Amino acid sequence: MSKAPIQVKVVLLGDSGVGKSSIVLRFVADNFKSDAEATIGASYMGKILQFNDKMIKFNIWDTAGQERYHSLAKMYYRDATAAIMVYDITKKDSFDGLKRWHKELSDFGPKDISIVIAGNKEDLVQNEAVPQEEALQFAKSIGALYKKTSAKTNVGVEQMFRDLAGKMFPDV
Ligand code: GDP
Repeated sequence: MSKAPIQVKVVLLGDSGVGKSSIVLRFVADNFKSDAEATIGASYMGKILQFNDKMIKFNIWDTAGQERYHSLAKMYYRDATAAIMVYDITKKDSFDGLKRWHKELSDFGPKDISIVIAGNKEDLVQNEAVPQEEALQFAKSIGALYKKTSAKTNVGVEQMFRDLAGKMFPDV
């Protein structure tokens, strides 16, 4: 087994309230907070996952609220290896907003970045506001993976990071 983990920088993008911080908290600490006002924490968290004979350290950058003002610093995108673009499956606006986030990523992010679109709040699927086909089409059009997640009920979160790693490093 190689000793040092492979370092990757992952950035979270998406409108306020879609569950970006909750996804990070679930992935890193296997925890969930239902209080929307809760300050979930720092803008950076790390976690190592084991893949067969390799270890990958995900260095995860969350917006810490600046996305409300559409003023993510350019250094947020710099040297990012992967981006998780999150929308809330019950809020069509948050899905439509991904087009703008993708444009920003294209303008400021590295050209070869790996992207996954996360349709979060899968536990509220009875109120789904975006046809699955449309979400898949958009993901395909930008060369992204597509995953449904629930930070609340812990559906698909770790698997999304594993799939992202598989996209970045096809031989892991
Ligand atoms: P952010 O602004 O994108 O970082 O979103 P937050 O992580 O702060 O989440 C916004 C709100 O959505 C909070 O009240 C969360 O508890 C809630 N939330 C986040 N993920 C989920 C989920 O998977 N299911 C449900 N039902 N609520 C969620």
